[in-house]
Amino acid sequence: MRILITGGAGFLGSHLCERLLREGNEIICLDNFFTGRKRNIAHLFGDSNFELVRHDVTNPFHFEVDQIYNLACPASPPHYQHNPIKTTKTSFLGAMHSLGLAKRVGARVFQASTSEVYGDPEVHPQPESYKGSVNPIGIRACYDEGKRVAETLFFDYYRQHQTEIRVVRIFNTYGPRMLPDDGRVVSNFIVQALSGKDLTIYGDGTQTRSFCYVDDLIDGFIRLMNHPAQTGPVNIGNPGEFTMLQLAELVLKKVGGPSKITFLPLPGDDPKQRKPDITLAQKDLGWAPTVELDKGLDATIEYFDTLLKEG
Ligand code: NAD
Ligand code: UDP
Repeated sequence: MRILITGGAGFLGSHLCERLLREGNEIICLDNFFTGRKRNIAHLFGDSNFELVRHDVTNPFHFEVDQIYNLACPASPPHYQHNPIKTTKTSFLGAMHSLGLAKRVGARVFQASTSEVYGDPEVHPQPESYKGSVNPIGIRACYDEGKRVAETLFFDYYRQHQTEIRVVRIFNTYGPRMLPDDGRVVSNFIVQALSGKDLTIYGDGTQTRSFCYVDDLIDGFIRLMNHPAQTGPVNIGNPGEFTMLQLAELVLKKVGGPSKITFLPLPGDDPKQRKPDITLAQKDLGWAPTVELDKGLDATIEYFDTLLKEG
């Protein structure tokens, strides 16, 4: 198949490009390099089935493709809050242009949505039926509401035009090729520990997250995209739940060195807890995560260790 991946040079996109190429597909990787890096996909340049296009999804795009994965959007709070108006535009227009193209060429289209559509959840763990608790005017809204309206567009194209849609709600995912200065908690803690700096916990560290290793997530993406009927939304994530204090202690134990823990103010609207209910993914996609945090952290620490040594 010929497959378009928007945001293909980012953390998740680069793993998806790699996996789909390996399975014998032709890949068009589209990215504006806001948080993506050529380095993430440089090893694919020699493959004649791989094509890179520098483009911004806020402008329309046209390719003859069979499938579209729409991943373009900065994902870490510091990056998506850097230019929040642009973040909302990227989510909305990126979804609209992906759907417009899918309708025009008859492609199946996949949206990388997020557990952030649940906001600061009052239901725990979160099933897909939970409608969420999002502050529409807070500092996370550009991302949360951008992703929510993208889901709305997907389901309206499905109802109005019978466009073949697939929507995944991704819970915190980590692994090699996250940016070292990305600002997300796993990369922050590992880079801080490897550099002998103190680990920065925001708030008192009792907030929880559930961390999925990137290979597991990509497997879930492909199962959903190729499912004959399931449109989603489907939660994909690892239900193992950890406080940020537990995560910091685990990273410190693994990396060793002089680092300690320091506490900084909690950013606005930071969700207190998050854990996916993955019953639907297990039942319909036969998917469940296979990589425990302990093992996934080892691979991620090794990646950042090499990266920092290379300078
Ligand atoms: P990332 O920042 O590494 O990747 C995003 C990619 O999109 C980058 O390559 C960036 O340059 C590109 N991009 C951003 N704006 C663009 C634009 N206007 N036009 C073209 N390209 C643009 O983040 P990621 O973790 O790989 O996330 C990928 C997708 O998955 C995002 O849509 C994100 O919202 C979603 N997601 C990720 C997680 C996670 O834990 N990693 C969780 C929930 C949702
Ligand atoms: N966090 C932290 N220290 C950091 C970075 C993040 O304690 O250096 C916290 C953050 O406040 C949040 C959790 O870790 O409660 C996860 O943050 P991340 O940005 O990775 O993802 P999100 O909040 O979008 O789930």
